[in-house]
Amino acid sequence: MKLDETEIKILTHLQKEGRLSRRVLAERIEVSTPTISSKIEKLENMGIIRGFSVEIDHGKMGLQKYYFKVKAQERTEEEMREVFEGSELFRKMEKLEGSGYLITLFINDFNQLDMATEYIEEKDGLSIEEVWRTQDEETKVPKIPLDENVSLDIACYYCGKPIEGEPEKWKKDGKEHYFCCSSCKGLYEEKYERLQKRKKEMKEER
Ligand SMILES: [Zn+2]
Repeated sequence: MKLDETEIKILTHLQKEGRLSRRVLAERIEVSTPTISSKIEKLENMGIIRGFSVEIDHGKMGLQKYYFKVKAQERTEEEMREVFEGSELFRKMEKLEGSGYLITLFINDFNQLDMATEYIEEKDGLSIEEVWRTQDEETKVPKIPLDENVSLDIACYYCGKPIEGEPEKWKKDGKEHYFCCSSCKGLYEEKYERLQKRKKEMKEER
């Protein structure tokens, strides 16, 4: 499942300024306010945007957190910061003991991991000593580069498995539900109807 151009723009703006009103967003992106509202609702529904102050769940967008342990010979911290700030793949730099630095990065494919690796290794005096990945759920990381290749990792509402490709959708009570296949969708609908019926019965019993 992919984001469309308007959705990418909305997220990009909200990453910079989480409290932009829908009206201002509409003006900046040059679409109507109702479009913004329905897009934001959709993003909330999918769990991409959470709550009021807009946190973006990067795990859901398939972004993975990596650490590089970098050895920097004859480089000042100031110089390292310049190197670090020269690429938008890097999120955080921490000084370790000796000549080491811990660099945090978020990537959405191996190509970006290669790019980050090359970027560091081509600099004089820098070498990557260790690379590792975490499963951490880091939710509040500003300024992730967003593009149309970011794929969304949405779980099926029925079976909980990640949805590959386009989801089956079912709109009920104004909320969009997403499924991995038509049989999950069917089963969920049945379960939903049963629950509604049961609720109604319970009300009547009282
Ligand atoms: Zn499913």
